[in-house]
Amino acid sequence: MASDVDRLAGLIKSSNYTVVVTGAGISTEAGIPDFRGEKGIYRQLGEDRVMRIINIDFFNRHPEEFYEFYRQYFEFPPVTPSQAHYRLAEMEADGLIHGIVTQNIDNLHQLAGSKKVIPVHGTANVFICQNRKCRKEYPDDYVKNYAETVPRCKECNGVLKPDVVLFGENIKNYMDAREMILDARLLIVIGSSLTVYPLAGFVREFSTSFQDLVIINKGPTAMDHAALLKIDTGSTGQLLTEVYRQLK
Ligand code: NAD
Repeated sequence: MASDVDRLAGLIKSSNYTVVVTGAGISTEAGIPDFRGEKGIYRQLGEDRVMRIINIDFFNRHPEEFYEFYRQYFEFPPVTPSQAHYRLAEMEADGLIHGIVTQNIDNLHQLAGSKKVIPVHGTANVFICQNRKCRKEYPDDYVKNYAETVPRCKECNGVLKPDVVLFGENIKNYMDAREMILDARLLIVIGSSLTVYPLAGFVREFSTSFQDLVIINKGPTAMDHAALLKIDTGSTGQLLTEVYRQLK
């Protein structure tokens, strides 16, 4: 690991525009399972079943079944950010990284203090009334404590939807996310299998024009062949702590 730390610290030091892309793997050390890992729901339930339910059509047609599933598999006990989230926030504050594009919906980058975060799949701690004339927002506590399975708006009785991108919906901040990634001179991907589009496509696009792609991930990703540096580790917090220590 020592030489990986040296190389990554060196790349960050010599880059004037570093962007970080994060996936579910950065939050496993905080206690939230990823989808494809050993404890992930794709392994437990099968990818097709999950994709059928976490889908906007299914939500609109069968809100009761959607929420039964959502409450069982997506309502996590409160967690705090991991060391990796904190190190990235510190690196941004020190001007070492420019910003983060994340696929995660757990809000942990923001909780750790990162300021420039583009969450392309939304955030699970906000729920929005689906009545177009209302669109009132609710915190997740309102939904967790709601007496019935399908949470409804107190003002118009509309069904609430988590403010996350379901299958069949467009990602959020498409242009901003693409621009931040393509503007980077050093792109560091952390904890993503790089199989979820369009974000994986932005990383692919970046790697066709620039050299400096770093991937930190436990296990293989779809873009390992294009990486200048691939670090295969599940101890992302420790790795980033050592890198940050060198940079200070
Ligand atoms: P993924 O599940 O496809 O891949 C995660 C990758 O991280 C895997 O390759 C895994 O081996 C690796 N990993 C696991 N623990 C790690 C660690 N400690 N250090 C380094 N690598 C680690 O995740 P994805 O590509 O982000 O896509 C899954 C989709 O599911 C995304 O769209 C995301 O929105 C959603 N999701 C979000 C959360 C969250 O918000 N925390 C959790 C699960 C899924």
